Amino acid sequence: MKFRKVMTLAMAAVLGASLLAGCGNSAKDTQDNAPAESTTGAAATSTVPTVTEGKLIMATNAYFPPYEYYEGNEIVGIDVEIAEAIGEKLGLEVEVQDMEFDSIITAVSTGKADIGLAGMTVTPERQKNINFTDTYATGIQSVIVREDSDIQTIDDLQGKKIGVQLSTTGDIKASEQFGEENVEKFNKGNDAVMALSQGKIDAVIIDNQPALSYVASTDGLKILDTQYAEEEYAACIAKGNDALLDAVNGALAELKEDGTIQSILDKYISAE
Ligand code: GLN
Repeated sequence: MKFRKVMTLAMAAVLGASLLAGCGNSAKDTQDNAPAESTTGAAATSTVPTVTEGKLIMATNAYFPPYEYYEGNEIVGIDVEIAEAIGEKLGLEVEVQDMEFDSIITAVSTGKADIGLAGMTVTPERQKNINFTDTYATGIQSVIVREDSDIQTIDDLQGKKIGVQLSTTGDIKASEQFGEENVEKFNKGNDAVMALSQGKIDAVIIDNQPALSYVASTDGLKILDTQYAEEEYAACIAKGNDALLDAVNGALAELKEDGTIQSILDKYISAE
């Protein structure tokens, strides 16, 4: 009786030790094999690699209506809604960071943000530094002048003072065609439009949707009836983060397929 009891205790101790050891081992195995994001349990809903777990940090320049602009303290617009729809698909919470347009590609490529969404045109030059997702919208470069301007065509811009937003495709194209010395570069599109309205410059070259928006909200301006250049907008993602690129492209494909992208565009852009 006594002997049996001792045996039982001894067996229990051995069993316990091996169970503990077993537990330890299997826990360790799980940790070693599983991707870092899934080890925190219920809080982690996404396995997509991002700068901050569970977040999709979006870099933008919030002076590009209707793609991104301030409504009070909040940044809203087409790109914000598209990011939120992507975030929802991927289980990531969107955080919007406003910065100079010129800083977006650097922020994304140096791991300060996950995705650049800024009505950004795909160009071969930019593709050297960043990867672009599939495109989700198109843009056209427009020319804004004062209502009483003698500028009627693109050719009339020769020798005039042209305002652009720094490092945008409007800047690149205008600088190439009309010479750096004739191009005044502003950090924000609306600063360029303000300078035009105050007579400090003769024209502004900027994407068509912000152009429409600025002309509607500023007296005495008009858009030339000419299409300077057609472009494709896409989101940018750091080179090397193919998992995020694939995940975003997958989400974009679904959002195009089910009409979400179109309905977001239609909400902000009225058909003329
Ligand atoms: N589409 C233009 C570009 O990519 C302008 C974008 C912007 O100003 N946000 O350069």
